[in-house]
Amino acid sequence: MIADKVLFLVLDGISDRPCEALNGLTPLAAAKTPVLDRIAAEGICGIMDSVSPGIRPGSDTSHLALLGYPPQEYYTGRGPLEAEGTGIHMTAGMIGFRCNFATVDADGLVTDRRAGRISGTAPLAEAIREGVDLSPLGLEFRFESGAGHRAALALVGEGLGDKISSNDPKKEGARPLPIRPCTDDPADAKTAAACNEFIRQSAKILYEHPINVRRMEEGLPPGNLLLIRGAGKMGKFPQFEERYSLSGSVISAATLISGIGKVVGLEHIPVPGTTGSVDSDLNAKVRAALGELDRKDFVLMNIKGADEAGHDGKGIQKRDFIEVIDTALEPLLDLSNTLIVVCADHSTPCSIKDHSADPVPVVIRGPGVRVDRNVRFDEISCAEGGLHRIRGGDLMPIALDLINKSHKYGA
Ligand code: ZN
Ligand code: ZN
Repeated sequence: MIADKVLFLVLDGISDRPCEALNGLTPLAAAKTPVLDRIAAEGICGIMDSVSPGIRPGSDTSHLALLGYPPQEYYTGRGPLEAEGTGIHMTAGMIGFRCNFATVDADGLVTDRRAGRISGTAPLAEAIREGVDLSPLGLEFRFESGAGHRAALALVGEGLGDKISSNDPKKEGARPLPIRPCTDDPADAKTAAACNEFIRQSAKILYEHPINVRRMEEGLPPGNLLLIRGAGKMGKFPQFEERYSLSGSVISAATLISGIGKVVGLEHIPVPGTTGSVDSDLNAKVRAALGELDRKDFVLMNIKGADEAGHDGKGIQKRDFIEVIDTALEPLLDLSNTLIVVCADHSTPCSIKDHSADPVPVVIRGPGVRVDRNVRFDEISCAEGGLHRIRGGDLMPIALDLINKSHKYGA
């Protein structure tokens, strides 16, 4: 039997280093994970450098690599991917940004970079779309609000560059910075000027908006300034379905990941109740993945949460959340015609509270796989498995071969 479907399950940042709080075990090794262990026992295991050994990947560059889009070739910054994930349809040449609604006081100082974690900002975004006019600069823009204090911006027009600075002072009590071009290229100067103009016009609209007036009356920080960063020029992505002859969906609460899925042509399936955090409704997510596998050939599912615990340096919380994930994955064990690939996108060691280049565990389970002797899904055990050490860019070719969709190299 040969599988006809593929599920990529990316457990974001689940991989770690030995934790003092866990008697020298990694959170994954310390966690009770009967489901992941059964997948490991029934599959072929290994460890994986998402990009290459020693490279500390972001979630964006690693997911591009896992999908077979080498980030060295396709990555142009976080902005365009966030913008796509936030609901702006990005086309080649557009400049994308991530934005925050922030608070400035009467003296022009940033007092809260997240505007008191404001939410429900769709009306603010609508007012900006209606009120801001960049046509004197020969440009159009797209602006969408995202979850909480987040939003995304894209500039549309000729001769725009993406090498510009941010207006984010990165700390509270400081003045927002003017956005500057980082090169002598007139294209970067044009983008910087457009951003400064966008910020100026939008700040006026936000200051007067009834939502912010009400927040001020209630003593809440208003979302009266946009901090914009992560500029990048949208590139051209060969579409997943044409490249691999597989239809596909992406399931992720993180806009960065859903944006990556969308730019390569995967359909984004929103799942109510998922938050990208440790309180996410994982059962709903797994149900959605099973539903998508009924109608599509390929599903990418990202479960965040563990990465967050790693960034917070909380080993015990990370271990406990891994156990919650494991329980939620149980329905996947019944999949018989599906190749299940489980991995992390990068390590997020609690000891360094950021991503590291340590390779991540990976397992592939499904018909035709040469099952190895490893029976545990963790960083150390998987290193003894039959896949040995691979790179993220190897994953799609291996999966395609196992479902018999690989093209022969040579005669
Ligand atoms: Zn990640
Ligand atoms: Zn992270």
